[in-house]
Amino acid sequence: MREDTQLIHGYGKEDPLTGAVNVPIYQTATFRQPELGRCLGYEYSRTGNPTRAALEKEIAVLEHGTAGFAFASGMAAIAAVLSLFRSGDRILISSNVYGGTFRILDKVFRNFGIAYSIVHTEDAERLESEITADAKAVLIESPANPLMTVTDIAAAAEAAKRHGLLTIVDNTFMGPYLQKPLELGADIVVHSATKYIGGHSDVVAGLAVVKDRGLAERLAFIQNASGGVLGPFDSYLLIRSLKTLGVRMERHSSNAQYIAEHLAADPRISKVHYPGLPSDPGYEVNRRQARSGGGMMSFELAPGYDHRKFLNSVELIALAESLGGVESLICHPASMTHASIPKEIREKVGITDGLIRLSVGIEDRDDILEDIGRTLEASRI
Ligand code: PLP
Repeated sequence: MREDTQLIHGYGKEDPLTGAVNVPIYQTATFRQPELGRCLGYEYSRTGNPTRAALEKEIAVLEHGTAGFAFASGMAAIAAVLSLFRSGDRILISSNVYGGTFRILDKVFRNFGIAYSIVHTEDAERLESEITADAKAVLIESPANPLMTVTDIAAAAEAAKRHGLLTIVDNTFMGPYLQKPLELGADIVVHSATKYIGGHSDVVAGLAVVKDRGLAERLAFIQNASGGVLGPFDSYLLIRSLKTLGVRMERHSSNAQYIAEHLAADPRISKVHYPGLPSDPGYEVNRRQARSGGGMMSFELAPGYDHRKFLNSVELIALAESLGGVESLICHPASMTHASIPKEIREKVGITDGLIRLSVGIEDRDDILEDIGRTLEASRI
């Protein structure tokens, strides 16, 4: 099957019992066993549930992995993946990593003896020089949140492999339709499926996919042992959302490209970060490893325009956390998504107080642009 067909049929055939063309929602915690020691494939829904299993199969197919795992949130997926490591291990993270990923490493896993270092994944040579003897994995986001910094995933994974490190890619910003990290050499992919995979800002969910069978067994054990699984109804919603992922991502991308080009030419904007712009430092690498520049961008207002006034004046675009929904969302990384990163680290990596992040929805692109134009006028100091 080709990808657009996999999005519709990737989880398998119709329900064998009834012929239902959609995966039934098996809203059950447990399963009757016909006799002692024998079950019909499922015993208890934390360990496995048929609706969740269909989603897990589909995401594995879409990411070209061997096994997929569905969790109650992106952070639950990331926590499960980080549970593969042990005391004394070090995880290398990119400088613009999602604030929640930084927080769980800094405030939770550090207490269990798992250290982290902030490294330069976007420069493979520099990354290689930053690998220490205790490093066991590198965790990458590309494009990274919120400056859309692009990492050459293949080059970083190659450097990591040379030193025996696993490469983990948080593919939330691109989704499996636009970018396939396992094909580029990564070992583990994680998603906040709350974002593009869910696509409608109505589900909180996380997914992980691995390539290696041994890793799959270990992650299955952790998923069952720690229990942060996705429920059957939310699993169904993601299966439903995946069916339109391709068409949504194409529209998100073309809308974002159009808006980024207009903002880059607007004197009221001093800087646009979008990997689909040829002037962007990540343009060439992103073009090699992803289908498009994606639907996310960030920008800074020119002197004379106030970011507070701007964010308080949007009308069509919603001022909200999150991204990847069909509706356009805007946020202020310094006080919202990245507030958990200390100010001095934030400023060092370029997340200034004036930076604005835009998740471009699939509305009419001119309505989005007009909202921004009107808002810019309202934000004049
Ligand atoms: N990774 C990235 C890149 C994110 O943007 C987010 C959430 O914003 C997460 C992980 C965490 O996912 P969730 O909010 O579904 O727990």
